[in-house]
Amino acid sequence: MRVLLIYPLFPQSFWSFEKTLALVGRKALLPPLGLITVAAILPQKWEYKLVDRNIRQVTESEWNWAELVIISGMIVQKEDLLAQIQAAKRRNKSVAVGGPYATSLPEEVKEADYLVLDEGEITLPMFVKAIEEGKTHGIFRATEKPSVTETPIPRYDLLEFDAYDNMSIQFSRGCPFQCEFCDIIVLYGRKPRTKTPAQLIQELEYIYNLGWRGGIFMVDDNFIGNKRNVKLLLKELKVWMKEKNYPFSFDTEASIDLAKDEELMELMVDCGFKKVFLGIETPDEESLALTQKFQNTRDPLSESVDKITKAGLQVMAGFIIGFDGEKPGAGDRIVRFVERTGIPIAMFSMLQVLPHTALWHRLEKEGRLLNQGGNINQTTLMNFVPTRPIEEIASEYIESFWQLYEPEQYLERIFRYFMKMGVRRHARAFQPNWRTIRGLLVLCWRQGVVPQTRWKFWNNLFKIIWHKPNLLATYLTSCAFLEHFAEYRQIVRQQINAQLAAYQNANRVESLVS
Ligand code: SF4
Repeated sequence: MRVLLIYPLFPQSFWSFEKTLALVGRKALLPPLGLITVAAILPQKWEYKLVDRNIRQVTESEWNWAELVIISGMIVQKEDLLAQIQAAKRRNKSVAVGGPYATSLPEEVKEADYLVLDEGEITLPMFVKAIEEGKTHGIFRATEKPSVTETPIPRYDLLEFDAYDNMSIQFSRGCPFQCEFCDIIVLYGRKPRTKTPAQLIQELEYIYNLGWRGGIFMVDDNFIGNKRNVKLLLKELKVWMKEKNYPFSFDTEASIDLAKDEELMELMVDCGFKKVFLGIETPDEESLALTQKFQNTRDPLSESVDKITKAGLQVMAGFIIGFDGEKPGAGDRIVRFVERTGIPIAMFSMLQVLPHTALWHRLEKEGRLLNQGGNINQTTLMNFVPTRPIEEIASEYIESFWQLYEPEQYLERIFRYFMKMGVRRHARAFQPNWRTIRGLLVLCWRQGVVPQTRWKFWNNLFKIIWHKPNLLATYLTSCAFLEHFAEYRQIVRQQINAQLAAYQNANRVESLVS
């Protein structure tokens, strides 16, 4: 069987970083870990080709070669995922779809021949059996969550390594918390399932032998969901990293209770972890309690951020506006929190309701769901009726996003942040190559020669070189992110304003008719 794996396009988003990636000659931030895991679970006597459409188009000869097309993606990729199903059907190919989007909204991908839903360790063998029995259609679902200790090493060999800024790897699935808006616990459950340390190190060894050096994103939605197992992993990883002379650095996502566990933070730093994404959501305690994010209410949030920063891990954080009962000024409170803590990368969104989450069930009961077939990203209006006027939330959102990434304010914030950050003991030495040198020169031209903020750029840069030389590469990466954010804040403003105008027009027409 000749299988063509297609990873759909992402729309431009907070995380797309086109301009920053172009600086270092990369095309995408992360590879499609789900699809290369699928390729590893399916029979190895089948042949595979993988096309990540964020890197390049599928060629006609690849379409002709394929006997079966497999497409997988997230909700944010839905537009291109649906277009790829159509493209495959036009060429009379059998199509199978899977992944988080198809699993959450199977009714939207019904045109595919096979719906391989939930987790592939259980449903892919059912799909293979159906194909072997000559079945041309089927929906495969699982009620159980599989152990991930038997998951084979993903087929990293199918990737075009040069196109990616980071590799991806997974240690665990699931999260023990119960945030009302979160679909991770719906898709992967509340009991974190981890790989074994030996299994994960085998995966790293494989990536290492394929020649990868540099950043690896540990894609776990909450890396520290099972603290006992994660510590067992880190103790072995620390030895492996030292033996290999620190070939990788790691970024990941974690819950804020990381700040309470000094041993865990120290182990992460020892293993070469650099950045950690925390879902802070809002500094408003009532909103956190209402959305059942109780873990964020137990200790003062800014103290937790400071502890993690001082331990030597750079905090990235997610913020949300639009919770029920939220008081006016939430956007401003978020900006003040980000400024106070200095968090360089603050992802900011309006609350969206995701299918089958606790929030979705509550709002459905209350008759407040809107436009459920639409796209969901940082430039879409809320898909439910909020408790305060949507115009007020949207204008606070636009204004706060604009302020967070105002170039002078941003450069000042990241400088303050890196000056207070703990210095990593085992950071991988900065190893420049022609890509990074070229990127650095372009960055110095764009931020150190052209704009009004050029004096601030050089002044801060020299102070970092003097006081925190070990953090220089990470600091410069944060400067490079401004290339993306300065453009993206304009997109947020234009697109939200356009949707708001359409929404107000529709309301005007409705009130005239009634
Ligand atoms: S901590 Fe994060 S992953 Fe866990 S339930 Fe909350 S939002 Fe989801």
